[in-house]
Amino acid sequence: MGVSRAFVTGASGQDGSYLAERLLGDGVEVHALTLSGEVSEHLPPEVVIHHGDLCDVPATRALLTDLAPDEIYNLAALSSVAASWEDPDLSAAVNGAAAVALLESAWQVARARDKQVAFVQCSSAEIFGEPAESPQSEATPLRPVNPYGAAKAYAHLMTGVYRSRGLHASSLVLYNHESPRRSPRFVTRKITSTVAAIATGRAEELVLGNLDARRDFGWAPDVVDAMVRAARHHDGDDYVVATGTSHSVREFVAAAFSHAGVTNWERRVRVDPALLRPTDPTDLTGDATKARTQLGWAPTLAFPEIVKQMVDTDLELQS
Ligand code: GDP
Repeated sequence: MGVSRAFVTGASGQDGSYLAERLLGDGVEVHALTLSGEVSEHLPPEVVIHHGDLCDVPATRALLTDLAPDEIYNLAALSSVAASWEDPDLSAAVNGAAAVALLESAWQVARARDKQVAFVQCSSAEIFGEPAESPQSEATPLRPVNPYGAAKAYAHLMTGVYRSRGLHASSLVLYNHESPRRSPRFVTRKITSTVAAIATGRAEELVLGNLDARRDFGWAPDVVDAMVRAARHHDGDDYVVATGTSHSVREFVAAAFSHAGVTNWERRVRVDPALLRPTDPTDLTGDATKARTQLGWAPTLAFPEIVKQMVDTDLELQS
């Protein structure tokens, strides 16, 4: 395979831990950039951790110049859409400008070492905003509706610019992807952890925002598999990574309560208008035909199984 060293930004999150496990399993030396003070509870001990801020461009560039990795995965992001409204300039800096600085660093390393550096940008379905069509593909127009999506759209476009310049750069348009390692800041884990608490008598109610939003909920380890396949494909490209089926937040709630064996759960759910977002895409569903055909990628876990695994883990954690 020839890949010896990978550099992963934002490695302390859900995807970083699965990606690190996957790369180590492939025999790759994994270097991770994490913010100092950030806890990386799922990151394997073999990972070489570098503390730093992606926005500190000179420091990150110096580190990359020194490491000269074969693969760079940019997972670092201010990942909360809701929080991007509170801090739109920070979202622009981390999700937009810092990704572009990293592309430039990759380009400089590739040139200086005269070798291929594969760059994988983790983009988001939020770049489509309230989408012009459903399901969305790589050809769907970008029209984000929140600061998070707009910053991600800039980094997505710049990945294409660097690809034209000769860098092996891919942008993966990721849809919501979940696992028991998901932070409870996201709706799925908030639901499964609260449902487990209700099922074990530790909580009374589940307070949510928009129950009608439909999302293409995938499995985080499957998404990580797409990242690695894109990095090792002969050319860089843009790929939608999705299951092709969307479910509403309400459907997720129903499936979680049902799996936990809680009946009459409707009275346990309360909508708090404060949790509604100024704009929230109605339905994000992706068409991953290109990833399936060009990368040989396919999701391995469907919606009911994802809900089940998350609820089971939360029940175990709380018992
Ligand atoms: P996102 O799609 O990356 O923003 O992932 P989230 O899991 O945060 O949100 C997914 C959907 O769930 C969005 O449409 C939210 O508006 C909706 N949602 C409904 N209630 C909640 C809640 O209490 N917390 C979060 N995070 N999202 C909620």
